[in-house]
Amino acid sequence: MPTIGRRGFLATSIAAAAVARSRSVSVQSPTRLILLGTGGGPRPRKVSSASAQVIVTNDAAYVIDCGDGVARQLVLAGVRLTIIRHIFITHQHSDHNADYGNLIWLAWAAGLNTRVDTWGPPPLAKMTKLFFEMNAYDIDTRISNEGRVPLVPLVHVHEIRDNGAVMSDDNVKVTAALVDHPPVVPAFGYRFDAHDRSIVISGDTAPSDNLVRLARGADVLVHSVMYPAAIDRLVGRVPNAARLKESILAHQTSAEDAGRIAQAAGVKTLVLSHFVPADDPQVTERMWIEAAQSRFHGKVILGRDLLEI
Ligand SMILES: [Zn+2]
Repeated sequence: MPTIGRRGFLATSIAAAAVARSRSVSVQSPTRLILLGTGGGPRPRKVSSASAQVIVTNDAAYVIDCGDGVARQLVLAGVRLTIIRHIFITHQHSDHNADYGNLIWLAWAAGLNTRVDTWGPPPLAKMTKLFFEMNAYDIDTRISNEGRVPLVPLVHVHEIRDNGAVMSDDNVKVTAALVDHPPVVPAFGYRFDAHDRSIVISGDTAPSDNLVRLARGADVLVHSVMYPAAIDRLVGRVPNAARLKESILAHQTSAEDAGRIAQAAGVKTLVLSHFVPADDPQVTERMWIEAAQSRFHGKVILGRDLLEI
């Protein structure tokens, strides 16, 4: 009897271990990167949405930047708003943060009832607090009338001020690097190291050595790009053209330089995004790609809204 009992115990243990193994394998789902908005600048456009990306792994969504329309872009990408777990803001420019509060609020209205951590430069905490105050009427009404969980306690804000480790969990390790986007200080790029791939999001930056270091050996680098020859046409429509041109040239990276940075960092794939200009028909897809390829020997992907990489 003791022998049989022991065998039975062993068989059960082995079966349990096999189940645990298969569970741990199935838990490690492939890490998905979806571009949600690839246009640069806050002006709403027909052709592309403002800056946003999402990384989805193990049924948790990590949203990077919240340009105008990010909630709807997530829905169009087939990402359930209820799985949003972390939100990262690269810098406090409206084409990257206009829908930061709206994303949380609307995801909650869509059923999100679990913790959300948000990360980004100051004044992220003040922005979050004031956003909830501004919308307290709706939030309170939905709690009392629809029986929703209180929203404010779900959201945990973390302000980032420097290079280095940001957070890590079972799915990813996130690291930030200060990039060069004057006059917006601090502005960050983020690196996500998952079990199967590493992804770097540049944020907005002029050519940045910090970003080269952050992106070293990464599988995917999503880099913001401009096409300098087209900036005159872009700013020609506005009265503050001269100042705007000067500003853009000082704090963005040409597609050619993005290629140079990708080459220096030794990444496998460079994804062009945050196009400045976003909708100039005289700058063709081929021109963007050829500019980057002139300096980079890896794979170049022209970003577009809802493209999964
Ligand atoms: Zn910016």
